[in-house]
Amino acid sequence: RCGFVAIVGRPNVGKSTLLNHILGQKLSITSRKPQTTRHKVLGIKTVGPVQAIYVDTPGMHVEEPRAINRYMNKAATSALSGVDVVVFVVDQLAWTTADEMVLEKLSKLECPVILAVNKVDRIEKRENLLPHLDMLSRKREFAEIIPMSALKQTNLKPLEEAVGRFL
Ligand code: GDP
Ligand code: MG
Repeated sequence: RCGFVAIVGRPNVGKSTLLNHILGQKLSITSRKPQTTRHKVLGIKTVGPVQAIYVDTPGMHVEEPRAINRYMNKAATSALSGVDVVVFVVDQLAWTTADEMVLEKLSKLECPVILAVNKVDRIEKRENLLPHLDMLSRKREFAEIIPMSALKQTNLKPLEEAVGRFL
């Protein structure tokens, strides 16, 4: 199995850290799908029969102020159209308007969206996590919700396995 995976989220939630740990030394560009030119291929991770192609998706960078308008949202949605799975990374500490904007961009997308709730190593009150996950689960229908820490490499494997299930 083989497919495209987009990692999206507002700045500073840990996307690069996550990608670096997932790809690590196993980064190898071994195959090319026809649609590859749609996206910038960041790396390919092959585990057994599953090959995940991690891509950068144009229009998904909320750092750009003009991305706020509707037209750009549409463009972002169509840019994501060749993607098989989206990993939406958020910070367990805070849900912000920037997260809302990313969510809005994902709203018309039909492919599975996995919610990666990152930085759980910084949780101060464990009893707050469950209500927070519950709040997030109401934002949209997520394929899976995975609490994780990219920095401490906690739950990266379950995340990769979840990705693999949708390829
Ligand atoms: P990006 O902007 O989404 O690509 O975020 P980065 O990967 O650059 O990370 C932003 C900051 O958050 C950096 O200082 C990272 O070290 C930190 N960070 C990323 N993942 C984690 C995590 O799981 N736990 C903690 N405590 N910090 C993290
Ligand atoms: Mg980054």
